[in-house]
Amino acid sequence: MSLAEAWRSELIAVGLFALLLISVGLGAGQLLPVIWAGLTLYFGWHLYQLVRFSRWLVKPKRHPRPHPFGIWSAVMRRVDDLSGRGQKRKRKLNRLLSGFLESTGALPDATLVLNDEGKLDWWNSVAAEFFGLERKRDKGAVIDDLIADPIFLSYLHGGNYARPLQMPAPVNANISLEVRVAPYGKGKRLLQARDITRLHQLEIVRRDFVANVSHEIRTPLTVVHGYVETMQESDEAFLGPWKQILNQMHVQTVRMQRIVDDLLLLSRLETRASNEGQGVVGIYPILRGILEAARQLSGDDGHRISLDADDRLRLVGNGHELESAFTNLVFNAVRYTPAGGEIQIRWWLSGNGPCFSVADSGIGIAPEHIPRLTERFYRVDVGRSRESGGTGLGLAIVKHVLTRHDGQLLVESEPGKGSVFTCRFPHERVAT
Ligand code: ADP
Repeated sequence: MSLAEAWRSELIAVGLFALLLISVGLGAGQLLPVIWAGLTLYFGWHLYQLVRFSRWLVKPKRHPRPHPFGIWSAVMRRVDDLSGRGQKRKRKLNRLLSGFLESTGALPDATLVLNDEGKLDWWNSVAAEFFGLERKRDKGAVIDDLIADPIFLSYLHGGNYARPLQMPAPVNANISLEVRVAPYGKGKRLLQARDITRLHQLEIVRRDFVANVSHEIRTPLTVVHGYVETMQESDEAFLGPWKQILNQMHVQTVRMQRIVDDLLLLSRLETRASNEGQGVVGIYPILRGILEAARQLSGDDGHRISLDADDRLRLVGNGHELESAFTNLVFNAVRYTPAGGEIQIRWWLSGNGPCFSVADSGIGIAPEHIPRLTERFYRVDVGRSRESGGTGLGLAIVKHVLTRHDGQLLVESEPGKGSVFTCRFPHERVAT
């Protein structure tokens, strides 16, 4: 019986009960007392059912389940119905949750769930293996007490999760991990760690290979270059038709030496710890030197080169690295700007942090090339780059130096109008 039907029957029963009371009351000549007694009985019974029902609702295990009749039995059925549906939903959710946990548990990547207090809520078996976790001991523990690696902790608390973190696994330093953090809900975080040992080793092999080849080439190259120079100094009559060839050999050996030097510099930037050789660097004197060198490079081309720099603004970093990055950018501006063009070098404290920029009125770069400029050997125009003495490694060096100084390279350019290359550093790098 539905609740509506139960109400109908209840009303009929109340009507019949009222008729009975009236007829008994009239028969006995005591209408009011009989009706009074009947109503008291009726409401008393409902009150009793209400008390039993509410007691059972609050503590179903302690109080017997009521088995009433009439409207109360319909209400009980409705309650049973609702709780049955709730149970079914709960079972479904439980099934879903355990399926989800099972599949996450089977993932080859480590997964950890941190609550809003930074405590460990859940982790899968791979996470237990990488981070040395034990379910009974570590559930609910603060992550800082479990993974003490300072680089990991500063990444986790830094809140900037745009780039993943590479770190050795706490249980085994031979395993390299790539850690990503994804915040969700209210202050919760999902931590994922991937084993990148193989990738890491390949990267080391590649790096060592390039460094070793460059190193091995350097000595024979110096010898050849030296001989070429000695032969060039011989008298014209002796050289004869070889003069032209020797000049070509000289240009090419110089070019090769530059490439080898840039490759070695890149591999040094890749292998050294990022804070090696860092201190307070006065940028202004460096820029004055670069300005002189740029004017010499420009030579007869007569570029108008200006410097506008804050001489009190100093940076915490590695002076040699910064000098080679800034030199690359300024020399590029000279090399890719036609004779007589304008080049402005600036160093100032912007609202976003200290900035170095080089603006030129040169050939500019089409937008499709800009995202790839910092790749090794990427050139917009190979012929022009070679002709002007480029190695194709300059901007790769700039990018590495900036990464080691937590900086960013911003490029704005328009073909035919010119380019602006800006290096932006974080405020924390300003030396006080
Ligand atoms: P390269 O030694 O060839 O100059 P870089 O890595 O320094 O190598 O630069 C990569 C490419 O970016 C260059 O080949 C050139 O095409 C382009 N480029 C760099 N700077 C400028 C600039 N100021 N104006 C126009 N193009 C530039």
